[in-house]
Amino acid sequence: MTATEVTILDKTFVPYITEQEIADRVADMAAQINKDYEGRKPLLIAILNGSFIFAADLFRGLHIDAGISFVKLASYLGTSSTGKVVTAIGMDANITDRHIIIVEDIIDTGKTLHEFLPEIYGRNPASVSITTFLSKPSALQYDVKARYTAFDIENKFVVGYGLDYNGLGRNLPCLYILKDRSE
Ligand code: 5GP
Ligand code: MG
Ligand code: MG
Repeated sequence: MTATEVTILDKTFVPYITEQEIADRVADMAAQINKDYEGRKPLLIAILNGSFIFAADLFRGLHIDAGISFVKLASYLGTSSTGKVVTAIGMDANITDRHIIIVEDIIDTGKTLHEFLPEIYGRNPASVSITTFLSKPSALQYDVKARYTAFDIENKFVVGYGLDYNGLGRNLPCLYILKDRSE
């Protein structure tokens, strides 16, 4: 066991993406959004809980007029999806004719967004794009495409930078990945 590993409950995680790498990518994404949405006033809709740190960092990098609102959806229990998406806090913002940027922590199977997107489109926004901190392309089961992705990662469980394992680990400043038993 090396000093950089972290143990949360029954699982051990190893460092995967550094704070600096994250900061650089998030700054790049913010710069791209500033460019793509220049002259418009997009509304970010961040999906709680996992995206709150990413959303805060991304939002601070925006120099255009932009708003932010939050919804709370959950489909995960422990380290695997329960397959059921539950809306714990719904949408209160008026999004009709707004340019919406959905902010996710991670697209895994894509089920969460697949179920949430019709709710967004049903309110007649001017446009919708998705920005996600992480994506697991090999786990994708639904036709959900992010316009902006900070990192494509392998199909293993990760924690840190807002993402949790059973409610813990969100405050880790960089991203950690589940350690293989063989390591
Ligand atoms: P999906 O509906 O795309 O399968 O899963 C989306 C949600 O599952 C994410 O927003 C996130 O909350 C959770 N999730 C998926 N993969 C991981 C992971 O590797 N680590 C953590 N902590 N959460 C994950
Ligand atoms: Mg999420
Ligand atoms: Mg979670």
